[in-house]
Amino acid sequence: MKLSEINMSILTTFVIVHLVTLGAIMSTDFHPSYLLWTLGLYCFKWLGFTCAVHRYFSHKVCRTSRWFQFVLAVWGTLTMARSPIRFASGHRQHHLHSDSRHDLHSRKEHGFFRAYLGWVISKAYHEDQLGRVGDLQRYPELRWINRYYFVPNVGLLALLYAAGGLPGLVYGGLLSIIVVWHVAFAITVMLHTLGKPAYETHDESKNSLFLALLTFGEGWHNNHHANMASARLGHERTQIDIGYWVFLGLERVGLIWDLKKSIEPRFYKRVSPPLGQRPTQIATATPGECAEAA
Ligand SMILES: [Zn+2]
Ligand SMILES: [Zn+2]
Repeated sequence: MKLSEINMSILTTFVIVHLVTLGAIMSTDFHPSYLLWTLGLYCFKWLGFTCAVHRYFSHKVCRTSRWFQFVLAVWGTLTMARSPIRFASGHRQHHLHSDSRHDLHSRKEHGFFRAYLGWVISKAYHEDQLGRVGDLQRYPELRWINRYYFVPNVGLLALLYAAGGLPGLVYGGLLSIIVVWHVAFAITVMLHTLGKPAYETHDESKNSLFLALLTFGEGWHNNHHANMASARLGHERTQIDIGYWVFLGLERVGLIWDLKKSIEPRFYKRVSPPLGQRPTQIATATPGECAEAA
């Protein structure tokens, strides 16, 4: 990756957050119970990522009110993946061009470093691609959070300090950011490397129970590439998908509706049928055709 391709302000922010976190941990007393702050915030933020940023904003797997959409945007922004608009733009490109040279984080095309960290600090990721996220850009409050994504994060840090003092701030606020970031970078590589495919999706996407447990359902990534319009990433009863359970809960209390539950892929056929079922005869299509249809 060339130096001219790097967004220096993002790289600087990235380095500073790491150094501040390291310094804060080194200068704070440690007790193993403090790691419960990290675990709790990790779960909270990852659910925000998979439910809000990925499934709702990137794929519109349900409908909701405008005020709850803003709540989802704030929740998703707490992963420090910049904003839902930013991620949705890059992620829709990923589905359109999976594992081709236009895929920002394809390990197969660009190598490990670009797939792990390079895409996040690249200028290409931070360029505005308004054409792909026009449905999100038309809301002023989403444009605001795209610009001021750090505001909810600073608010959360203040809240954690008020609730838990220095351990809350350092282990809940700062360390959880670092953990969420590196798990996000690692799974970007592993979702197209580790596990097995269930569908012939013309890309390297795989399904992995380990990654699904780590990320509340994101590990069923090949299922997701086969049917990206569905809220369900786990297509079989044994495929644990906690993110989908959250959607079912939100639907039950009336905060969302029109949840897309169908898992039937429109274009792709299974590599092997689920136990006890006959193979489904489905015509195949290119990834681009499928992404446009979704
Ligand atoms: Zn993928
Ligand atoms: Zn997706």
